Amino acid sequence: MEYLSFSSITIGVLEPLTPSTLMSKIVHMVLIFIGMPRHLLASHAKVRHEVSNMSVVYGPVPSWRLGRSLGIDPILPPKTCTFDCVYCQLGHTVNKISVRLDIPPVDEERLEGELLKELEKIDVKSINVVTFSGCGEPTLNPRLGEMIRRVKDILPDVPVAVLTNSSLVCLKDVRKDLGEADIVVAKLDAADQKTFVSINRPADGIPPIKEIIRCLTEFKREFTGILSLQVMLVDSSIPMRTNISEDAINAIIDAIRAIEPDEVQVNTPTRPPSESYIKPVSRGIITCVVEMLESIGVREVLAIGIRERTPTFRSVLRVEAERIREEVFELLKRRPCRIVDITLALGLGGEIVRKAVEDLMRRGLIRKVEGVRGTYFIATTAKSGED
Ligand code: SF4
Repeated sequence: MEYLSFSSITIGVLEPLTPSTLMSKIVHMVLIFIGMPRHLLASHAKVRHEVSNMSVVYGPVPSWRLGRSLGIDPILPPKTCTFDCVYCQLGHTVNKISVRLDIPPVDEERLEGELLKELEKIDVKSINVVTFSGCGEPTLNPRLGEMIRRVKDILPDVPVAVLTNSSLVCLKDVRKDLGEADIVVAKLDAADQKTFVSINRPADGIPPIKEIIRCLTEFKREFTGILSLQVMLVDSSIPMRTNISEDAINAIIDAIRAIEPDEVQVNTPTRPPSESYIKPVSRGIITCVVEMLESIGVREVLAIGIRERTPTFRSVLRVEAERIREEVFELLKRRPCRIVDITLALGLGGEIVRKAVEDLMRRGLIRKVEGVRGTYFIATTAKSGED
């Protein structure tokens, strides 16, 4: 298999070859030799990541996919990623690795300190979502799950999203960490190996794309939040394998059919790409892919420039309290929801939703139900409050 070949991990600062690292490399090579895929062997990389002075928390920034988003960068510069995508807006990958970092560049303590400071300056009501993304692949940080839990403790009513490139989703501990989020936006730019290698340029040791697709399908089955797949369609001014040929698009559509995500986001580069020959695709191609996705029954399809999520927050000043109460009540008549589910469904802030819910409770129109993932609310007239 292609991914069994041994090569050293490409990192910004290489470790000195001590007797113990030499021994671990020998053991590693022997295990590969006897037939174990390398991505299943290693789980952490000993990259010495300089402690960066850059801020961990940034924004809020408007996002066409998620609304107004408060960003968390769990990686920080230098750019550390399992891919080196031709369209990456961060430039070339400095630390290209295939296993999780041994030393987290950021941990939950530092995140908490910076987040609390930031929240003194911004209006929580103006945030739709907290998004883990930044200078590389968020799942490379082994403290990701703990950091998500810490954000939820501080902002219990704001949904948490993670943008991942899907490369490490076959690792159990990565899937467990992603499972803490409310929304996972996972990259799927190709579903055949040649296109995957051409566009995403994965690090040695990253599983083949077919295996990643299998793991994404498994993750969808176990994940209780929203799984959104992001497809970045690219064109090129030089001859190269892109993902807009008929066979490449058909392979992506087949993979999406197998994964059954809650949503697909169709994107194309709009910011300066890592490689200057990479070009955005036409509106016609995006529309065509959107139609193909709808024809296979994808529940929600978003597309850049064509069908975007409301980018700005619905201000409480503009939406009267009575209307909000009605909208929340209508939703709870149909299905039980947590505060976080209501904020996601209606695009309202957690605090506004909480007030509406308290009001509806006082009027006896809704009741509380404890579920596996927290406290749910449901209309008293509804039949069941089951999770
Ligand atoms: S996965 Fe994201 S951060 Fe990594 S190279 Fe690709 S676009 Fe850049």
